[in-house]
Amino acid sequence: MQLACLDLEGVLVPEIWIEFSKRTNIPELSRTTRDEPNYDKLMQGRLALLARHGLGLPDIQRVIAGMAPLPGAHEFLDWLRERFQVIILSDTFYEFAMPLMRQLGYPTLMCHKLEADADGIVRGYTLRMPEQKRESVKAFKSINFKVIAAGDSYNDTAMLAAADAGILFCPPQNVIDEFPQFPVTRNYDELAAAFLAASGRI
Ligand SMILES: [Mg+2]
Repeated sequence: MQLACLDLEGVLVPEIWIEFSKRTNIPELSRTTRDEPNYDKLMQGRLALLARHGLGLPDIQRVIAGMAPLPGAHEFLDWLRERFQVIILSDTFYEFAMPLMRQLGYPTLMCHKLEADADGIVRGYTLRMPEQKRESVKAFKSINFKVIAAGDSYNDTAMLAAADAGILFCPPQNVIDEFPQFPVTRNYDELAAAFLAASGRI
């Protein structure tokens, strides 16, 4: 039995914070872990910005509902779900991802949670567990699934390494250079072919 584990942002949907920052004209919200490696500091900064601009959860979700998955993502996901059980492992938050999940036919998503108060103001966040992508893959293997994982960036490499086969999708050059063991794919046709090749190999 083979499972396909997919990263979300950069694979099926745009980078949510970056797209959100463009749509709300708040450039500071486009900061990522590349600009601020301390994740908690980064998130507290983002939450403070949301509060300062008076953006509560309903506003955030309205903006995100205007976004769309990457072109061809829904078709690729349908293709993959016909052939594998598919689990999306993401470091985003359910409250952000759901408007996009609706457009992808609600695939299974494992990610994190925001905490909002009664007025919808986001007060904090809950990471379900650290390193959840890698730990999920290890857990699936422990219940006798073979896992093929695909992702686009640095925060996916532990998941790719833990899987029986790992595939990079449109990664930045530094990830390609640092992780030459993973095949690189640059569009959904190549990604589909890499899944089939891995499936025959593992
Ligand atoms: Mg990603």
